[in-house]
Amino acid sequence: MDSHHGDGRGFATKAIHAGQHPDPVTGAVMTPIYQTSTYVQDGVGRHRGYEYARTHHLTRAALEGCVAALENGSHGIAFASGTAAIHAVMTLLSGGDHLVAGENLYGGTHRLFQNVLERFGLSFEYVDTRDASAAEAAMTGNTKMLFVETPSNPLMRITDLAAMREIAERAHCMLVVDNTFMSPFFQRPLELGADIVVHSTTKFLNGHSDMVGGIAVTNDDEIAEQLRFLQNAVGAVPGPLDCFLALRGLKTLPLRMERSEATAVELAGWLTEQDAVTAVHFPGLPDHPEHELARRQMSGFGGVISLEFGDGAAARRFLEGLEIFQLAESLGGVESLCSHPGEMTHAAVPVEQRERMGLVDHLVRLSVGIEDPDDLRSDLEQALTKV
Ligand SMILES: *Cc1c(COP(=O)(O)O)cnc(C)c1O
Repeated sequence: MDSHHGDGRGFATKAIHAGQHPDPVTGAVMTPIYQTSTYVQDGVGRHRGYEYARTHHLTRAALEGCVAALENGSHGIAFASGTAAIHAVMTLLSGGDHLVAGENLYGGTHRLFQNVLERFGLSFEYVDTRDASAAEAAMTGNTKMLFVETPSNPLMRITDLAAMREIAERAHCMLVVDNTFMSPFFQRPLELGADIVVHSTTKFLNGHSDMVGGIAVTNDDEIAEQLRFLQNAVGAVPGPLDCFLALRGLKTLPLRMERSEATAVELAGWLTEQDAVTAVHFPGLPDHPEHELARRQMSGFGGVISLEFGDGAAARRFLEGLEIFQLAESLGGVESLCSHPGEMTHAAVPVEQRERMGLVDHLVRLSVGIEDPDDLRSDLEQALTKV
């Protein structure tokens, strides 16, 4: 799809070049890691656009420009983590404001909303956003934001973003979408009417599991100005080395996403045929309840699969039996990972709510990396014999 931002170049070209210019002093092709906190001024009050690194940072600006271009957005504002990016977006609101959020959110996002932001007077209503009428019904005269994660983590439920856009418009509230699971390679929510897209750059965008970071992207100049103000005023900025690593990771985003998705499609289909596996959640499967919506809204199905076993003990035997898939939190790296969402990423969500959301004890999540597909399948096969 063509970009309306910048030069109309293709995705892979933008992933390598957008936001980046050869260093004016040396001609260095790669963006330098400007490891500095401050900048010398030419005279009192006369600087070169850079005063202090919390406020202005060139390595960070290159990352922001690149991700913004990939999302077809005009502004990127980077943060020290995905959680910090979501927190910054929430601080656009004020005490007393109401939000409607998807009920199947990343555990840390849920913890931020419930255990931190509620104390500052924000109130949240959680709904199953697969049901647009439920989202609409939750809107009050005071609802200022609709916050959605699609596909959801870890059950891979899909929310219709165009329907959310209409609801947000009628309610005069902002639509914010966490696009971490798809990356802009497979899904671009701003094109579907989102006001803000947030990412944990820790995951697919960086893709090498060697930094933690986040970013918010928007096409709205006013929102961007406020987020830029908050980035500086609150101060959860990423360091220069982390920005450099994310920029380097982005260069191979299309190749990594393609490979990870192709393997995930193959493995998901194969997993449905295994007796020990009682359910497979992957939007690329034809019997996934929102498969048709996923085909319309995304240009691929991503690299995350969740699956269920007969009971929690079987799930644990499977997880502990895997050898190439490493048992670890996180996803979206070149290496394959596996996790137990209930005990790991979503441990912060209260048990009753976890069960209501379908985050059962026998659920396992796989993040499919870019190793040889045959090796990954053999690994799953040998672990299944231990179940
Ligand atoms: C990991 C993750 C986050 C939080 O990002 P951090 O970089 O770990 O703070 C938010 N949303 C989703 C969907 C995630 O997977």
